[in-house]
Amino acid sequence: MTRRVLMAQVMHETNTFSQLPTDLDAFRARYLHLGDDVVKAFRGTKSETAAFLDAAEEKGWTAIHPLAAAATPSGIVTKEAWTFLAGEVVKAATPRPDGILLALHGAMVTETADDAEGDLLARLRAVVGPDVPIMVTLDLHANITDRMAELASALIPYRTYPHVDQYERGRQAADLLDRAMKGEIRPVTVVARRPTIDGMDHGRTTSPGPMRDLLEKAAQFEREHGILVVGLNAGFGWADIAEAGPSVTVTGSGGSNRLKQIAEELMDEVWERRAESTAHFLSVEEAMARVKGEPAADKPWVLADVTDNPGGGAYGDATRLLAGMIEADLQNAAFCPITDPEAVAACRAAGPGATVTLPIGGKVDPAFGAPITVTGSVQYLGNGDFTFDGPMWAGLKNSMGDVAVLAVGGIEIVLASNRFQVTDHQHFLSVGIDPRAKAVIGLKSSQHFRAAYQPIAREVLTVNSGALTNPDYTLFTYRKLRRPIWPLDGIA
Ligand SMILES: [Zn+2]
Repeated sequence: MTRRVLMAQVMHETNTFSQLPTDLDAFRARYLHLGDDVVKAFRGTKSETAAFLDAAEEKGWTAIHPLAAAATPSGIVTKEAWTFLAGEVVKAATPRPDGILLALHGAMVTETADDAEGDLLARLRAVVGPDVPIMVTLDLHANITDRMAELASALIPYRTYPHVDQYERGRQAADLLDRAMKGEIRPVTVVARRPTIDGMDHGRTTSPGPMRDLLEKAAQFEREHGILVVGLNAGFGWADIAEAGPSVTVTGSGGSNRLKQIAEELMDEVWERRAESTAHFLSVEEAMARVKGEPAADKPWVLADVTDNPGGGAYGDATRLLAGMIEADLQNAAFCPITDPEAVAACRAAGPGATVTLPIGGKVDPAFGAPITVTGSVQYLGNGDFTFDGPMWAGLKNSMGDVAVLAVGGIEIVLASNRFQVTDHQHFLSVGIDPRAKAVIGLKSSQHFRAAYQPIAREVLTVNSGALTNPDYTLFTYRKLRRPIWPLDGIA
């Protein structure tokens, strides 16, 4: 008997404090593949969907793949976009498949659903009933709701930050689905959380700290106690929904009491260590003092603008770090990106080699760094297309949108039309800049850049320039978040 497996990817990390709504065009700008295009786009890449497709081939399943869609983190997903995306997945569940594999983020908020993943699961369950196994991979920054845990058979979050294990988690989901379809296991999932919006050191796995310790304990439960999956979800605090924040999910076959006990035990540690952080942020001035104060070397400083991280929903056009670099008159430096389609168009109109004076950046919300007026020469123009070849998403095609490289003093600035965080050397290489040959690299990202850039860096400096993805949650006004909650309400 050939088993029929529905597989779909719908991913968005929704920053409800962003003023940029996320419509279908925002998905198209990252990717929105339908039907057979899913196979063409993902086969052979480091992604969940590639793992689903490989498993289907190996196990002889008939794969039903209506869509794979993702948008760069941004504001609330429009009703129209969600109706289409969820609708395509639910439609493909008739006739009823034998199993379902979903690659979701876990922190998606739409105009009609605070808990988009729970909404999708509920609509699928309404069609396929309670017995069809549904295995869900998630980003490590998922906000797990009770409804998600109740309706999914298994929740399988990434275990790395930077996230480099998408393929492995996809395989894990497919293997569990195989066992469940054969009747070997009947997984159920429970969730535990505490009154905190922060914890697990945001999930960072690049240095010793709470996340690594918890992952070790989670692996031990899986190895020695017959638990199928222990999921450590660091949460996403910039989504103002009731259940935002870190959680532990435990998936097992059989009674849920024991699973709940394990989830609570691990969550106790999350709670006790919630204030521990391995991150150290510098002001723009402090970062410039470090860079200017030390002699040249053969590796670049890597300066990460962590609070204007488009990977967390920031606008990618905040100017304070770049302004600091220009004022410091850094030489042999490069910066990527300033998202500013108007500035790209102006460079294009001027033509290659032209000298232009124009305002760049700061256009979505000048409060995070107003536009700065620069004079420079247009060094490169292109369509921004490239293929990832680093530790994240290798093999997947992507686009920065129309780009221009503007040389301002000793700094080559990548102006882009799309919003994205820098995770790959190709963000520079594809526009003619070799990051290894630079003395200083400025980039927009908070943690994912480390996978590709820490190995080539003289030193990484993380800079808080005061933009939208500020790790200080007390700066935000929450309306839907459950209260009281740490660190907002004076809980010690
Ligand atoms: Zn994440």
